[in-house]
Amino acid sequence: MVSNRFCVFCGNPPEKKNREHILPQWLLELTGDPKRVVNFGTNFKDGRTIRFDWLNFCVPACESCNTEYSSLEGRAKSYVLTLLDRGALTSIEYIDFMDWMDKVRIGLWIAYHFIQGNPTNIEPSFHIKTRVSQKDRMIAIYPMAGDGVGLNALGAESLIFHSQPSCMGLRINNILIVNMSSDFLFSSRCGFPFPKSCFTMLDGESPYMMHASDFSITRKIKHPLIRKQIIKPSIHLYQPIMARSEDKRFQSGFVGDYNSFDSYLAKHTLPPYPSGKGILYFQHLDRVEPIYDIKQPIEFENCTGMHSNPMYKLARQVYEFQNLIYKQGNFVAENRELELNHAKRTKLLLKWNNNIIAHYSAMKNV
Ligand SMILES: [Zn+2]
Repeated sequence: MVSNRFCVFCGNPPEKKNREHILPQWLLELTGDPKRVVNFGTNFKDGRTIRFDWLNFCVPACESCNTEYSSLEGRAKSYVLTLLDRGALTSIEYIDFMDWMDKVRIGLWIAYHFIQGNPTNIEPSFHIKTRVSQKDRMIAIYPMAGDGVGLNALGAESLIFHSQPSCMGLRINNILIVNMSSDFLFSSRCGFPFPKSCFTMLDGESPYMMHASDFSITRKIKHPLIRKQIIKPSIHLYQPIMARSEDKRFQSGFVGDYNSFDSYLAKHTLPPYPSGKGILYFQHLDRVEPIYDIKQPIEFENCTGMHSNPMYKLARQVYEFQNLIYKQGNFVAENRELELNHAKRTKLLLKWNNNIIAHYSAMKNV
């Protein structure tokens, strides 16, 4: 890989240099010839298509960091095999699987940052360790007809994903997993604390820091958990996650929670209290079901009309949700020019995605 500057897990210069396969060997073997060469989108610096053989799709990592995550890889493999068989995972296994999806999503983000020539000039401000299991997150799993073999990462090449790796799709043979994660994405609708005011300062003392204040909590679940319509998946799970805070006003130690004990949060988070990590909520067509028993097996729901939701619609959805989440951000600056430039850039990023969305929409006529 191009740069050795930092470890993908901890962000420090890698000690005892090691390489981490962003898409692990077991996954490559499961989805075709592990030595295959694939297109990886465009290098934005020279406009050329990036071709890469997946065995070399590696980023630098410390040996110790790599080892720390290797057991998660082992478990993820068994979860994926179960899902390909349409088998049930328990609630706590799905939560573990979401950690793996976080790891893959952030790993891809950092890898694309290297291989696409950093088109938006960002410095990764977080790495796998500081981003796994830190923000509200969801997964939706779509079974696909047939027994196709293949591996695709949808949305990981977009300019929005470069700025904010909040949503992607991972197709593994005949399932598509859509994964989203962002601050306070659905905390309020799960009955968790949420800020009435939230913005990111582009300049000042700590640029790119999010400022959230004026917290409220309803302790009520609202259906649906995300208001934009989502094509019905077979597995549709949401986990609200509270961020740790040193602020003494938040007595439980988590952002937005002014209480030392909150019986609603105690009931709707994983033990031991206070963990800040929510239980899973299953989004059904007509209601939201909180899953209180972490050992409860979660079965695939039938997707009626599955064949009327071809791949192009599912793919399009990934880019639509990237735009939706990006538009929820509120960026301000003391420097007016900086603020205007950011607004201009936002327009460009959204337009880039809108072109892809239009491209997929046109496919219904093919
Ligand atoms: Zn490290």
